[in-house]
Amino acid sequence: MRLSNYFLKTYKEYPSDEDIISQKLLVKAGYIKKHAQGIYEYLPLGFRSMEKIKTIIREEMDKIGFCEMQMPTLLMQEVYDKRIKFFGKEMFKIKDRTDKDLCLGPTHEEPFILLVKDALNSYKQLPIGLYQINNKYRDEIRPRFGLMRAKEFVMKDAYSYDKDETGLDVTYKKVKQAYNNIFNRVGLDFVPVISDNGVMGGSASEEFMAKSSVGEADILDCGCGYAVNLEKVECSFEKANTKPKFDKKKLVKTPNSKTVEQLVNFLNKNEAEFLKAIVYKADDKFVLALVRGDREVNETKLTNYLKCANLELASVDDFVKINSVAGFVGAFDLKNCLTIADNEVHNMVDFVIGANKTDTHYINANLSDLKIDKFMDLRNAVEGDKCPLCGKPMTMKKGIEVGHIFKNDTHYSESLGCTFLDENGKMKPVHTGCYGIGVGRTLSAIIEQNFDEKGIVLPENIAPYKYAILPVNIKDEKQMELAEKIYAKCDQNDALFDDRKDTFGFRMKDLELIGIPNIIVVGKNAEQGMVELYKRKTDEKSLIKIEDLNF
Ligand code: ATP
Ligand code: MG
Repeated sequence: MRLSNYFLKTYKEYPSDEDIISQKLLVKAGYIKKHAQGIYEYLPLGFRSMEKIKTIIREEMDKIGFCEMQMPTLLMQEVYDKRIKFFGKEMFKIKDRTDKDLCLGPTHEEPFILLVKDALNSYKQLPIGLYQINNKYRDEIRPRFGLMRAKEFVMKDAYSYDKDETGLDVTYKKVKQAYNNIFNRVGLDFVPVISDNGVMGGSASEEFMAKSSVGEADILDCGCGYAVNLEKVECSFEKANTKPKFDKKKLVKTPNSKTVEQLVNFLNKNEAEFLKAIVYKADDKFVLALVRGDREVNETKLTNYLKCANLELASVDDFVKINSVAGFVGAFDLKNCLTIADNEVHNMVDFVIGANKTDTHYINANLSDLKIDKFMDLRNAVEGDKCPLCGKPMTMKKGIEVGHIFKNDTHYSESLGCTFLDENGKMKPVHTGCYGIGVGRTLSAIIEQNFDEKGIVLPENIAPYKYAILPVNIKDEKQMELAEKIYAKCDQNDALFDDRKDTFGFRMKDLELIGIPNIIVVGKNAEQGMVELYKRKTDEKSLIKIEDLNF
């Protein structure tokens, strides 16, 4: 490609409306353009890198026998009837001109299983593996981090159908291997972690996490091979035999002290002496979650227990409806509210808790004062908690979830009636698995791990072009002649010929910013048939004969 004809606009400054470095660089380097919050245009450079990732994904999925196809993204809403509640506001719902309810596909388990259901009669047709690379639409509550959490994004989604648990296990392991290959080939530093299956059930799931400080996922790892998403880490609990010192709770004034932090200062106590009380709205019901003051509520555990579609913090107005006041909630005398406490609360004595009145708390409260409907494992694990496998203390890391593999077992086949006749002529539900990769999120994660002060540093197989040919002076006939000769010889489909009329410095800066891995500088040694090969990643520069260029 000749850059003089190319559609490329780079920027001197970082955009002000992107929040992380990978997205700032993608916009600055002219890979993508923001269309609206959570919606992006893929410009020629970004489009090419996305295509290169897709090619690697295709090669690995084809290798394990999955067939590529394409579902519509505009779908009948009724296809999702059985779990439409769980998508809640995340699903883009639309009507056509005849008032038919349509939607933009957020994920495609249902259309795929309905397709297979129609075609499937006998065990002889199994296993089946299908995949597509297609746009997905989710009205994310907080679209951010550019392509990482967008409203429209590209996903590779795959679905498998097996005759039994053993078959699903074999397929799941093959996909896991394919995912390891894919993420290794795109050059990511990643770790697979055990993750939560969510309210949709199924027996196993793992997420592929790119290691990164901007990751939204917390991973606990002890190095024994058991890395787990914080959402999923079970917290062990042993009942202690601590006895209360006080037999009566005492009302104290706590003006303007609503958070544990403010109370710690005001009452001069430890965080662990407070009972943290958080009110949620779970669909249309109120739930009070109680954890020790130095702990956090694990909302995944709470959501799974409640089997709700939407879990959100109650609004200030909601507190009146449960007979309490925001910031001063106590687990007594509440109305219309289920109270769930973390197991550790069993061991708390003489603690501080809200009194359901403004600027008021109780001190020296005890469990006998409270009305608790259920105790369960409700808290987030913390660094130092013991690994459930080896017992060593775990450390916390941040990760970007780039892929997710699930065993759904017979969840979808039973709810949508996808059955087959087995070897004995018996009707059985098919065992399914589903497997996703966020293509844009993967590109973002690669950049998040590979950049420097000059710009993007992509690996050769993901960079939009492997080579750039850069004549120092485009008015110099000798240089241009040699540059043309190199361009004619190389794979023009993977090379940019920088024949723009701008200064050398400007053009070099651009090529460094967009992260071309090999820059062939044609300068003063052109007459001797020599060029400088500049490796962007290692900053190595070497003078070589053009015959020695390896394309
Ligand atoms: P998250 O917990 O980050 O919301 P998810 O569990 O909703 O992810 P899946 O439904 O498993 O994600 O989707 C499969 C893959 O699609 C994810 O692993 C991720 O790489 C990608 N993905 C999901 N949501 C988005 C999004 N809003 N923007 C970009 N990629 C996404
Ligand atoms: Mg999500």
